[in-house]
This record gives sequence, C-alpha cells and structure tokens, in this order.
Amino acid sequence: HDVLDSDIQGIDQTVAFGAGLRHHVRKYAAQAGAIRVLILTTPHQSDLGLELAETLGGSAAGIFSKAAMHTPTDITEEALQHLNEAGADAVLSAGGGSTIGLGKALALRAPLVQIALPTTYAGSECTPILGQTENGVKSTMSDPKLRPDVVLYDPELVTTLPVPMTVTSAINAMAHAVEALYAKDRTEATDALAVQGLKAFHEGLPAVLEDPSDLHAREETQKGAWACGTVLGQVGMALHHKLCHTLGGALNLPHAETHAIILPHATSYNWPAAQTELAPVAKMFGAEEPGEALWNFATSLGAPTSLQALGVAETDLDRVAALAAQNPYWNPRDITQDGIRALLQRAWDGTAPQ
Ligand code: NAD
Repeated sequence: HDVLDSDIQGIDQTVAFGAGLRHHVRKYAAQAGAIRVLILTTPHQSDLGLELAETLGGSAAGIFSKAAMHTPTDITEEALQHLNEAGADAVLSAGGGSTIGLGKALALRAPLVQIALPTTYAGSECTPILGQTENGVKSTMSDPKLRPDVVLYDPELVTTLPVPMTVTSAINAMAHAVEALYAKDRTEATDALAVQGLKAFHEGLPAVLEDPSDLHAREETQKGAWACGTVLGQVGMALHHKLCHTLGGALNLPHAETHAIILPHATSYNWPAAQTELAPVAKMFGAEEPGEALWNFATSLGAPTSLQALGVAETDLDRVAALAAQNPYWNPRDITQDGIRALLQRAWDGTAPQ
C-alpha cells in the first residue's frame, strides 16, 4: 500500500492509503502493539463496526456505537467504562471527526493505542487536537498523545458518503489549508502541504462527483484530507475557523455545512491583508480574488451557500457578529464587528463574496 510522507518533522504516525485496507486492520493493530481493540462508531455506522469486529476476530474487545458530534463527556465516560470492562488496550475509531474525537477523548483518559479508519475528509485523525463538550460548553485542547498512532485511509469507506456530504466535508478540509497559508506560524513545509492538499481536492473532487464510486479519485481526495488535516495540526487557525466555531456553538449548526458556507466569505475578508499568501488559491481555482475562486468552485459542486437555508434566523446575525468580534485572536486582517456582520449577511443571503 501507498505510504505517504511529508517534510513535517516530529509526527510519529503510521499512515497508509489503499482500497480494502480495512481488511488488514488486525495486522496494523498487532504491529502497533495492540492486543484487545475496542471498536468505536456512531449509531449510523454500527454495521461497519460489526464488519470490523469480524475482521479483528480474537483481537476485538467489543463495539461501542454511540459516538456523537462535539464529543460529549458523558458519552466518553460510558465508553471508558466499556473499555475498562473489556480490558482493551486499543481503540479502532471508524468514522468521521465525531468518532475519531471519541477515540482521542479515551486516549486522554487511558494509555491506549489509537487506530483511525477515517470515513470523511474532516482530518481529525491527523491532529493532536480534541474538542469536548461538557454541560453544553465546548473546550478545545491539544496534546501530542491525542494524535492517533495509525491511520488507514481506505477509499472504499468514503464511497458511502452521500454526494452533499462529500462536498461539504471536502470544503471543511480545504478550509484548514486555506487558513494555513496565511497562518502567523506557517513555514515553507506547511505552505507546501497546504497547496498539496488543495490541489488534491481541486483535481479529485470533480472526478468523485462524476462517479462517486471511483476509487482512484476517492483516494486522491483522501490524500487531500491527510495533507489538510496534517497542516491543521501544525499551525494556528484564524477568522474562518473561529467564526465557524462561534456559529456552531451559538446556533448549533452542522459542522461541515457551516465551513462550506463560510469559507469563500472568510477568504475574501482576509484577502486584502494576505494577497501574497492567498495568491496560490486564486491561481489554482481560477479567479483574480481567492474568495471568489473558492465560491465558484463550491457552487460548481453544488455546495450549500446560505446560512438562511440552514435555518439560521437573520435576527441572530448581530449576536454572532458581536460574539465573533469579542474574543480577540490573531488574524491577518483586523476583525471588526461591522466587518463580520457584513460578511455574515452575505453568507446568510447566499450571495457571492465581495
Ligand atoms: P461526523 O463524524 O460528525 O459524521 C457525521 C455523520 O455522518 C455521522 O452520522 C456519521 O456516522 C456519518 N458518516 C460519516 N462517514 C460516513 C460515510 N462514509 N458514509 C455514510 N455516513 C457517514 O462528521 P465530520 O464532519 O467528519 O466531523 C465533525 C466533527 O469533527 C466536529 O465535531 C468537528 O469539531 C470535529 N473535527 C475535529 C478536528 C480535530 O482536529 N480535532 C478536525 C476536524 C473536525
């Protein structure tokens, strides 16, 4: 199988790509020193859990199928109890960012080998970052021990992603790369990785939409997810991620769709202050202004464009703009409440960025 490497130093992670890789999970688990593996999925993906339990045979220590968005700590505690009762020393997180988040939350609480089988493009499997929710309050932390030890990208697993989710999840991944390009702590290596990730989606995504079962194109987009996720773990994020976080928290919006709607607008907002940094995006996606270029790409793929269509009330925009401008963080361009309010209006209306 194809094993990728980057110029990023200091990441101790086994990463492999290939159709049918999930059938070899027992071998990878053993190589990583795992003896008893607890399988994690969402309720929606419990069938995948059953299939993996069969593949793991005697190494399977059970299935926990209650992973949920935003990693609620009560679910983590329940999973931890299963883990302890089963005497598991490893988890196999088979799913998107929510399931991989549960694996990380368990690794925070117990010494574990973590194996990830990503089924979306969100990229959490590449980062040492964990967001958890307790009593409705989300907090984010970063610790190298949270990064999964083994990541197996099996393109067959993303063929079941419905086309709308394929598109929003891919744009969610691309957002990591776009913001990495103007990050304060970027390096030549992170720039190269970000461009590599964007290129993989630029080339792979139209082919996936033409034929969602095209394994070659799916693998290309998974390589994009890997590059974008890895770069997310290397540099600080700015306006786009903070605004999506605020919107998600304040209005309980779906993660990937929110990213897909906001990205062209946040990029346009930052463009005057990061013209050189964002030039590769404009060039790759073929417009003079990178936000417009991303808008054209997203709409050509049928991505959602409007917060209104997500059910956001226009009267909430003032509150979100105030919240987003409240907590200061580094961004290439000054963040003003009026500026964010205007950005949100366009995202709510579903009109092109300016
Ligand atoms: P998700 O994991 O929440 O999945 C959404 C739904 O899609 C679930 O019901 C899931 O079972 C289903 N699904 C997933 N893959 C599927 C497939 N191949 N076929 C059919 N259905 C499938 O979605 P996500 O967007 O991957 O993850 C979002 C979460 O991940 C958010 O909470 C976000 O904060 C977190 N995240 C964290 C990081 C990090 O570095 N810590 C990075 C990105 C995202």
